[in-house]
Amino acid sequence: MTSHGSVENVAACPAALAAREAALLAPYAMHSSASRGRKHAEPPHAYRGPFQRDRDRITHSAAFRRLSDKTQVFTGGLGYHRTRLTHTLEVASISRTLARALALNEDLVEALALAHDLGHPPYGHAGEDALDDCLRPYGGFSHNRQALRIVELLEQRYPAFPGLNLSIEVLEGQQTRYERQQDVVGRPLLEVQVVEAADSVAYDTHDVDDALELGLFTLDDLDTVPLWHQAAGRVRRRWQALSGKELKRAVLHELIDWQVGDLLDVGRQRTHDWALDSIEAVRAAPWCISANEELAALKRELEQFLFDRVYRHAQVIALRNEAQAELRAMFAGYCHRPELLPDSYRARVAEVGLERSVGDYLAGMTDRYARHEYRRLFAP
Ligand code: MG
Repeated sequence: MTSHGSVENVAACPAALAAREAALLAPYAMHSSASRGRKHAEPPHAYRGPFQRDRDRITHSAAFRRLSDKTQVFTGGLGYHRTRLTHTLEVASISRTLARALALNEDLVEALALAHDLGHPPYGHAGEDALDDCLRPYGGFSHNRQALRIVELLEQRYPAFPGLNLSIEVLEGQQTRYERQQDVVGRPLLEVQVVEAADSVAYDTHDVDDALELGLFTLDDLDTVPLWHQAAGRVRRRWQALSGKELKRAVLHELIDWQVGDLLDVGRQRTHDWALDSIEAVRAAPWCISANEELAALKRELEQFLFDRVYRHAQVIALRNEAQAELRAMFAGYCHRPELLPDSYRARVAEVGLERSVGDYLAGMTDRYARHEYRRLFAP
C-alpha cells in the first residue's frame, strides 16, 4: 500500500474525468465520455483525458513548431509582429476564456484552437493562393483541408498509425472549417463555434496592431472606422490624456473585451432561449456563437478597411507577387525534378500523385526555408 493518493486517482482516470466534467460542464458541452473515439482505437490514457491527449499530440507535431516561422500576412522584410504561432496562441487563449465562461470543454477547445491553422503554407494567404493555382487541375489547395492531411497523414510520429490519430471530434471540427461555406447538415459543436469566433476576434485585433506598427496606416486613419472610433471613445472617456502607443494598446484591449463580452452575452442568451440541453440540440439549432448583428456589421467595416489598407497596400502587393512567383517556380521545379524531393514525399507519389506530394512538401515549408530552398535550387 502506498500513502500516495495519485495511484488510485490514476487508475480511476476515465471515471474521475467523467465526474469532473459532469460537475463543471454544461449539458450542451462535449463531454469526453461521449467522444466517438479515434480512427485507430487506443486504450484510455492513465492520467490524461482524450482531448488533453489531442492537444499534446498537436503541440508536439512538426507542423505546430513550424508555425513559429510562418507569417499571418506576408510582409517579408517589412516585418510583422504576429506569426502563425503567436496568432494560434492568442486564439487558444481567447477560446479558453469563452469556453470556461460558457462551461464548455476547455480541453477540446484548446486542441481545436492549436490545430486550426496547422495547414497554412509559407507566405500567408499569398502562398495559399499560389498553391491553389498550381494544384487547380489536381483538386486545388485549402489550408483548412491541408490541416486535415497533416494530422491524418503527413505527420509521422507514431509506429502504430499515420498522422496523429486525433479524436473524431477534433477532426470533425477542422472538417467543419473547411466545409463552412457549404451547407453542412447539422451545426458543429459549440466548442468548434467558439474557436471560429475567437479566431475572428484575434485577427481583427492583431492585424490592426501589426499594421499600425508597420506604419501602413495611422491612428487618425483608424478613427474613420466606426468600430475603432467607438472603442477609442470609451477609452478616452476613462483616460483623457492617453495618446499614441498607450492609446493604441488601451483601444486594442477594449476591442477584445467588447467582442468577447458580446460573444458571451449572445451565447448565454441563445443557449437559454433555444433550450440547448444536449449535443443533439446544438446540432439541430442555428449557429449559436457569433457577434450580435450590430457588432458583426462594425467588424465587417473594419475588415474592409484592413483589406484596402493592408492586404492591398502597394508594398504588401509587391512582396506578395514576388513570393507567389517563387512558389510557382518551386512547384514547377520539383514536378520537373522529383529526385529533389525528400524521401518521404517521393515515397507518397505513387499513392497521392506527384503534384499533390510536391504541394504537401511546399505547404509544410516555413517562410525562411522556402526562400532558402528557392535560392539554393531554383533562382535564375
Ligand atoms: Mg486563424
